Amino acid sequence: MLKPVELEIELFCLGMRVDESCRVDEDGRRISRTRAGLGSGLELVLPSPKKKIWINVPVVEPFAAKSPFLLVKSGSGYAVSDTRTGDHYPVEVPKEPGWYSWKTTSGTEMSRVGVLQGTYLGIYVSNACLYWNLPASPACAFCTTGRNVGEAEESRKLVEDVIEVAKAARDHSGSIFTHLNTGYHFEDVDKLESLHGLRQCEPFVKAIRAEVGGFIGVQAVPVPRRKFKEYDDLIAAGTDHFSFCYEFEDPEVFASLCPGKALTVGQPAFFEAMEYTAKKLGPGKVSGEIIAGPEPIDATKRAIDRIVNAGAFPTVCIFRPTLGSAMEHIDPPKPDEMKEVFAYLWRAVTRVGLPVGILPGIQVSLVVQPEEAAELVPQTLGTRLYETKLAALRALARPYVAWKRRPRGGRAATV
Ligand code: SF4
Repeated sequence: MLKPVELEIELFCLGMRVDESCRVDEDGRRISRTRAGLGSGLELVLPSPKKKIWINVPVVEPFAAKSPFLLVKSGSGYAVSDTRTGDHYPVEVPKEPGWYSWKTTSGTEMSRVGVLQGTYLGIYVSNACLYWNLPASPACAFCTTGRNVGEAEESRKLVEDVIEVAKAARDHSGSIFTHLNTGYHFEDVDKLESLHGLRQCEPFVKAIRAEVGGFIGVQAVPVPRRKFKEYDDLIAAGTDHFSFCYEFEDPEVFASLCPGKALTVGQPAFFEAMEYTAKKLGPGKVSGEIIAGPEPIDATKRAIDRIVNAGAFPTVCIFRPTLGSAMEHIDPPKPDEMKEVFAYLWRAVTRVGLPVGILPGIQVSLVVQPEEAAELVPQTLGTRLYETKLAALRALARPYVAWKRRPRGGRAATV
């Protein structure tokens, strides 16, 4: 039998077929082709002794049709069957939240504003990333944002709509984390400063902090050092977390697969902004996001070290050849290589004592979370001590979480 984290990694790499016995369109969440398109799979929950593991399993990409994994209906529940070994793994198919099909006051279906990715709410708040519209269309090769925004989701999100959706996610799905992302928007053209991705997020952050509460994350292409005050402003507005998608460690791979980022801001800008905000917010509150698979795993390991040494935590996304992206024909990575990457990741966060998995109730379905990787590494005295420290931090965080959940109020004065 595979350990839960091994099953998670194999499902990300090999995808899954869905047996005719399943009624996932009635029993589960709809497949969301929103944001970069990585949520293009079926959300499942894997039981695990320490905590449940949420995973967005690829099911629509062609590689999934050849997968040894088959989702089957098993009595009143579901199981993933491994046709190589005959092993059965009971899983949960989480129900689609009722609020997905509710309308906001302005008449927009809520799922066109934001959807859950695991247990947190993800919202692409701006109009389509400009890399999709610049000459030569230098969009990131794995991304489908330019195809999704305005199609599967609203092309412009209104602050009022976002507030209503965030409240629905909070009240009816227990979400305590709202994550905003934007893509690229002219950060180097001063006269269009109002269109910056970071600046675009600010009114949403203020309104969510004032009226919804919970934790707020922002992800945008970084601004140059001379504009780092924008990060300070966003922190003052209520941002708890920044994430920086530099995607690939090797500069040549970065330039070829993220040509827009390489042309407009350059790879070093991601590191500088990550280091700056990690110092401002403290350990474990900023993440460096990379994609494992398209570059050699030694480069991915160097990226993990770089992120951890900056005081950030590594968010490693297993490459998915999403339909409609320029890389849709590339094979996903091999499970054994990804197990090696995540074992390395766990050793790296242990080495520096980074606080990971502290906030209860924030489960991310698009990646293997650092604390889930613990099962890949034999326990030592060092890892036991580290896990004891994490458990203590989780207990200490409870009153802080309760305080953060309360809306701050006073939006009229802050927006
Ligand atoms: S920056 Fe890249 S990954 Fe992000 S939305 Fe734009 S093209 Fe997609």
